[in-house]
Amino acid sequence: MNGTGNHNFLRFLRYVAPYKRYVILAVIGGIVKFTVPLLVPQVTQTLLDDVFLNEALSTNDKLRALWTQAGGLMLIFIIIWTPFTFMRHYYSGKAGQKSVFDLRCDLYYRILRMSASFFTRNKSGGIVSRLISDIQLVQNLVGTALTNIWMDLSALVVILFFLFRIDWQITLVALATFPFYLYVFRMFQSRIRRSTYQVQEEISIMSGNAQEKIAGSTVVRAFTQEKHEEKSFFQDSEHLFNSEMQRIRYQSTSTATTGLLTRLAPLIVLLYGGYSVISGRLSIGELVAVTMYLTPLYLPLERFTELNVVLANSLAALDRIFEIIDEKPEITDKKDAKPLTNVSGNVHFNNVSFRYDPHSPEVLNNISFTAQAGQKIALVGPSGSGKSTIISLIARFYDPTQGTISIDQQPLTNLKQKSLRQNIGMVLQSPILFSGTIRENILYGKPKATETEIKNACKAANALEFIAALPDGFDSQVGEGGALLSGGQRQRITIARAFLKDPKILILDEATSALDSESERLIQSALERLMEGRTTFIIAHRLSTIVGADKIIVMQNGRIVDTGTHKELLNRDGLYRNLYEEVAA
Ligand code: ADP
Repeated sequence: MNGTGNHNFLRFLRYVAPYKRYVILAVIGGIVKFTVPLLVPQVTQTLLDDVFLNEALSTNDKLRALWTQAGGLMLIFIIIWTPFTFMRHYYSGKAGQKSVFDLRCDLYYRILRMSASFFTRNKSGGIVSRLISDIQLVQNLVGTALTNIWMDLSALVVILFFLFRIDWQITLVALATFPFYLYVFRMFQSRIRRSTYQVQEEISIMSGNAQEKIAGSTVVRAFTQEKHEEKSFFQDSEHLFNSEMQRIRYQSTSTATTGLLTRLAPLIVLLYGGYSVISGRLSIGELVAVTMYLTPLYLPLERFTELNVVLANSLAALDRIFEIIDEKPEITDKKDAKPLTNVSGNVHFNNVSFRYDPHSPEVLNNISFTAQAGQKIALVGPSGSGKSTIISLIARFYDPTQGTISIDQQPLTNLKQKSLRQNIGMVLQSPILFSGTIRENILYGKPKATETEIKNACKAANALEFIAALPDGFDSQVGEGGALLSGGQRQRITIARAFLKDPKILILDEATSALDSESERLIQSALERLMEGRTTFIIAHRLSTIVGADKIIVMQNGRIVDTGTHKELLNRDGLYRNLYEEVAA
């Protein structure tokens, strides 16, 4: 993370660039906001030295001067200061929100396009925390950092100009604490940034774990693990607390130290200024004006240290955001990738071997087989033998470590992923639906489908009847993950979705746990219909499915140990017969 930060800061500026006009407006607003009040010491000095202490003026003259000067200043505040101050806050907020908006969308875009392995490596809650909590921190970068720097710098220049005009010696005294500021600034920046990075990591871990447990709350309850989960959340929380405290220690020390410098400086000036007044080198009005300038002089300095914190925090968050944006998806389209068109659905595995990552063992070893267009291929074998992995490779969620997979003689790696997946339908064991209506979930298979197409798909999926019986029909809410529907209903919705998509290649993962026989029958007949005319790969658990398959591939420990039809395989005394006897028993 170190070293990349400044680079990441520059990269972030590219997100701000389109909105630089807002930053400029904010800076202009800010400069006016800070310089107008600097007229007050000027006017005070004039009033003191040239008016009040001027024996030559009459009381009436003094009153008139007082009213015009103070009143004039009030008018300036009302007419100029107020709108510019509004402008400073409004436009810096707008610039910040706009650039963060783009960054957030970019981040989400990248997350959606990550390869399957990214989602097995990272917890969903942790990924979401980058979208929410890291982005939140970056927001401050524009609002505070980018605009404040300019405002504060220009305020400093103006104040120094006025101060030097009054007296250069006392100005130098006022500046005596500057080097210490710089020292404190430098000392704390990288520490605060490191601790923020740590805090954000802990937030990721905590939200990752909590999100998983909340989503799986039924399991937590069923195993009465509430206490255990409570403890584990407590620990995550404690880690976060400790990192937060480290950051708070740095921040407090940095604030206290710069605060001290800010408080000491005026006293040093007062000491020196007092001497100068006593010795007659400085007038009372000048001393008062100088002291009045000290607050606006040190305010930017104090804010530089605040800025230090904001900067350190946002840079740490940027590091975490760009870490994801920079992660290269493992599966990408080649430059000359072609779309898959006019699919007939011949699928061929040629000597395919695969491991999930370079350090883990091989899960598929030398797999070769051919599925002719329209065939039903059943994958059977003990759990962990590699059936699901084969299916993931067909959809190109991963690329084989060795060998090639092709569809209609074209290697998958030469095809555009989008066109490949458009031709593959999946009905998995645990059907995943998204919160929303039944209609929205079915349309996921073909967003532009007509009402008749939806109805036909539901009819074919044996889903029309139960949907029609719901009070809101197609507009009924399914709940998160489809929680408001029964397992069988969810399954039929996913089948309807697959019908609507109308793919040439179909992937089915049969449920191991039996549903009630009515649901079972409805799903089975819907699937039979769905398989017609499509090359189908089924991870088969039911006897009827296996018996009806054109080809059965028997897997064990990542290898194909036998292939054939049900009859052929039964005649051999192999693994298949054992498996069959187990299921049939
Ligand atoms: P099956 O579907 O036959 O039960 P799988 O294809 O799911 O078998 O698993 C084959 C092997 O690959 C198993 O040893 C499993 O632990 C491993 N495996 C499955 N998915 C992953 C993954 N995402 N990352 C690492 N290893 C995995």
